[in-house]
Amino acid sequence: MSLKYGHTLLSIPGPSMVPNRVLNAMHRPSPNIYEGELLDMTDTVFRDLKAVARTKKKLAMYITNGHGAWEAALVNTMSEGDTVLVLETGHFSRAWGDMAIALGLNIENINFGTTSDVDPNILEERLRADRQGQIKGVLMVQTDTASSVKNDVAAVKQVLELLGHQALLMVDCIASLGCDRFEMDEWGVDVMVAASQKGLMTPTGISLVFFGENASRRRDNLERISPYWDWKPRSDAEYFYRNFCGTAPTHHLFGLREALNILVLEEGIENAWNRHGTIASAVWAAVDAWGEDIRLNIVDPNKRSCAVTTVHTGAGVAKRLRHWCEEEAGVTLGIGLGLAPPGPEGLDSIFRIGHMGHVNVPMIIGTLGAIDAGLKSLKVRGGSGALDAATTALSRHCL
Ligand SMILES: *Cc1c(COP(=O)(O)O)cnc(C)c1O
Repeated sequence: MSLKYGHTLLSIPGPSMVPNRVLNAMHRPSPNIYEGELLDMTDTVFRDLKAVARTKKKLAMYITNGHGAWEAALVNTMSEGDTVLVLETGHFSRAWGDMAIALGLNIENINFGTTSDVDPNILEERLRADRQGQIKGVLMVQTDTASSVKNDVAAVKQVLELLGHQALLMVDCIASLGCDRFEMDEWGVDVMVAASQKGLMTPTGISLVFFGENASRRRDNLERISPYWDWKPRSDAEYFYRNFCGTAPTHHLFGLREALNILVLEEGIENAWNRHGTIASAVWAAVDAWGEDIRLNIVDPNKRSCAVTTVHTGAGVAKRLRHWCEEEAGVTLGIGLGLAPPGPEGLDSIFRIGHMGHVNVPMIIGTLGAIDAGLKSLKVRGGSGALDAATTALSRHCL
């Protein structure tokens, strides 16, 4: 017997919940891809995605997931043997670096661990030692979805500027775009990658690479570039078909259009950041109230992502809790990823809550309520009052 037979929630940090409006917008016959509605609409999709990224720079769209965007960003800016510096803050920054190695790049990394963010002072020291300017790119994530840390992208750019270092600043915003403040132009980011299935509330399958002049020049000076990943025809084709190196992802474009209607035209990006901030604060308040063995991975509230929260539990509790929530309550929580603490239970004592994109009060209270009930049902030692703490945090929402 189970309590799960109602509207289920997917509270994992991507893919996120897709609004019914987006699903409905995709439910239609195939359109003409040579002229008409689809072409005009796609121009507005490019326009509004740039509004989300706060940029006037270029945008290339790919029919792929986030890993594809990682590869696109690297192959358009680097040649075999070039050195990139990876600012490691968990699983995802490391994985982007691993991809760079596989592409024949030379990798240096600074490991900031899985419970803290990039320290600009350490970065400064490392870049100062690069007198020859060997480092061609600095790779970082805004939010590392495994640790749920949020990095200060502007602070990293300030270090590059202070030293007059020419490395491209390349930022993965796959988990954070549309959730946490990100200002591509104001912060001076050269390349930014994102994907459709997290803050952008659209099924997996479209990824985005935004890039500026400096990055463009790198591409123009490459000896050779894979025609499929080349961002040039994708970003300024006079001919729609070349924007996608073939047939456009028609239905994803209709879906994205509707998601952008919600995010940009109706809610407004700054309001969306605020909403994510308040919803995240409700999650943190609940976890703090559970207490005992249950704690947040990132201690400093200013360094926590507003899109995902990584939670530690006592040995093995997270795994049992995830199963209880899914089987008994209809809520799917995220698994622990890439930051196993020492001990045999490893990742079984970590779970993650995704709160990105299409999330409002009943959704987050539903998720937190399921966890609260699960902890009681599993007789896990922990404090009470988590839902009270969460609703108090929500009640403080202001614009
Ligand atoms: C989800 C995610 C990725 C990977 O995206 P895929 O679509 O699974 O390839 C990369 N980086 C971050 C920060 C993510 O959250």
